[in-house]
Amino acid sequence: MRSRSTVYERLAPPAAVVDAALAPSRHAVFWLEDAPGTSYPALTGDGSADLTVVGGGYCGLWTALLAQRRNPGARVVLLEAQSVGWAASGRNGGFCEASLTHGEDNGRCRWPAEYDVLDRLGRENLDAFEADVSSLGLDCQFERTGALSVAVEEHQVEWLRESPDFLDAAAVRREIDSPLFLAGEWDREGCALVHPARLARELARVAAGLGVEIHERTTVTSLETPARGPVRVGTPGGTVTSERVALATNVFPSLLRRTRLLTVPVYDYVLMTEPLTSAQLASVGWANRQGLGDLANQFHYSRLTADDRILWGGYDAIHHRRVDGAHEERPATYRRLASHFLTVFPQLEDVRFSHRWAGAIDTSTRFAAFHGLTAKGRVAYAAGFTGLGVGATRFAAEVMLDRLSGLTTERTSLEMVRRKPLPFPPSPVADLGIELTRRSLDRADHRQGRRNLFLKTLDRAGLGFDS
Ligand SMILES: Cc1cc2nc3c(=O)[nH]c(=O)nc-3n(C[C@H](O)[C@H](O)[C@H](O)COP(=O)(O)OP(=O)(O)OC[C@H]3O[C@@H](n4cnc5c(N)ncnc54)[C@H](O)[C@@H]3O)c2cc1C
Repeated sequence: MRSRSTVYERLAPPAAVVDAALAPSRHAVFWLEDAPGTSYPALTGDGSADLTVVGGGYCGLWTALLAQRRNPGARVVLLEAQSVGWAASGRNGGFCEASLTHGEDNGRCRWPAEYDVLDRLGRENLDAFEADVSSLGLDCQFERTGALSVAVEEHQVEWLRESPDFLDAAAVRREIDSPLFLAGEWDREGCALVHPARLARELARVAAGLGVEIHERTTVTSLETPARGPVRVGTPGGTVTSERVALATNVFPSLLRRTRLLTVPVYDYVLMTEPLTSAQLASVGWANRQGLGDLANQFHYSRLTADDRILWGGYDAIHHRRVDGAHEERPATYRRLASHFLTVFPQLEDVRFSHRWAGAIDTSTRFAAFHGLTAKGRVAYAAGFTGLGVGATRFAAEVMLDRLSGLTTERTSLEMVRRKPLPFPPSPVADLGIELTRRSLDRADHRQGRRNLFLKTLDRAGLGFDS
C-alpha cells in the first residue's frame, strides 16, 4: 500500500529532542555576524553621476563594479537604503548556480528554442564569476564543490536513474551519510558555494576601490525621468542626477509602478548549527563539501561553512504581501526545520543550533529573473530571481550595462531577456492562489509526487513549479 505521509513524518524525532536542539538558537543571521566590512556614509547634498545604481545587494554591487571596470573614468554612485548586503544577499544559502533559469526543467519548458544558449551563458557566467573572485581578490570562501541532489522517497529515485551522474544509495551515503538517502546525483561543475555576506561586502570593498561612490542608509524615494535631460533620483539627503540609472531593488517595492506586480515576497527559513566536532563531522562524511538538496517539491538545502557548521534551510515557503522583519520569527517553521534535520542526520542528535533566520525570496511567476529597460533607454532594472540569484545577479548586471550602453549582444537578444513574466494578480487573489499552490505542492509530496488538477493547470499555463 502506498504511504500518504512523508519520510519526515514517519521518522520524526521526539519533540523533546527537537526542543533541546533549538534551545540555544538566537534569531540572528550567522553570515552577517561573520562578515567583517566597512560602513559607507549616507548621502548628504545633491550630486551628479554617469550611472546611479539603486540597491546594494549582489545585483546592484555587480552592476556598479562591472560598470566601473568597463569604463574606469565613469562616475558611478550606488545608493542603499540600509547597509550593503543586509537583505537576501547577506542571508542566503550561498549556492552559486550556473543556471539562469531556475534549473533545466523550468528553462527547457519556458524557452525551449534557446535553452542550450541559456545553459552555455549560465556556465560562462559561473566561470567568469570564479575568475572575478580570483582576479579581484574577493575573500568570500568560494568553493567549486558542485551540488548533490538526493532522493529521500522511493518515487524520487526514478527521476535520477537516467542521469549520467547517478549515485546509488551506497555511493551517495559515502559522500554524505544519511539513512534517508536512497540515491543521488552529483553535478560537479554547475554549482559553487560562497559565504553570502562576505561576497556582498567584498564586492562593495572592491567596487569602492575602483572608484564607485557608495552611500548606505540612503533610501531612494523618487525617480524622475523627464523627456529630456538627466534622470533625477531623490533621497531624503539629496538628489543625484545622472544619465543612466540601474534599479536593483529586488523584492522591495519597485520605483517603477509597472513592475510592482511582477514579484511577491515568499519567506524562506534557515537554521545554522554550532561548529561540528571532528567526530560529529566524521559521522556524516561530507569530505567533498558539496551543496546538498533533496528532490521534493518542498525541498531542503544544506551545506557546510568554513568552520564546519551545517546550514539547513528550505521546505516551508510562506508568502506575505510585503517585506517585514516581523515575518522572520515563525516558531512552527523552525521546529519543523530542526525536526527534519534530525530525521536526516539522527547521528547528530547532540548537535545544537546557534542561529535561526529568514529572508524574502524574490518570486516571479516564471521562477527566473526578468530584465527591463525604460525611460528611453535611460533606466534599466532586473529582479525576480526566485531564490536563485547568487550567480544570476552577475548576469543580470551585465544585461543592464549592455542595454544602458545601447549595445546589442547575445545576452540582450535572448527571449528570456526581452520578454517579461506574467504579473501576479493583485491581493487577495494572489494570496489565495499562492497558498493553494503551496498546499498542492505539499499534497504532491504526500502522494508520490503526483500533481493535482490545480498544479497541472498551472503547468499548462506556464505557471507550474517543480522545485
Ligand atoms: C533565505 C534565502 C536563501 C536563499 N538561498 C539562495 C541560494 O542558495 N542560492 C541562490 O542563488 N539564491 C538564493 N537566494 C536568493 C538570493 O539571495 C537573491 O536572489 C539575491 O541575493 C538577490 O540579490 P539582489 O541584489 O537582487 O537583492 P537584495 O539582496 O535583496 O538587495 C536589494 C537591495 O536593494 C535595497 N533597496 C530596495 N529598495 C531601495 C530603495 N528604494 N532605495 C535604496 N535601496 C533600496 C535593499 O535595501 C536591498 O539591500 C536565497 C534567498 C533567501 C532569502
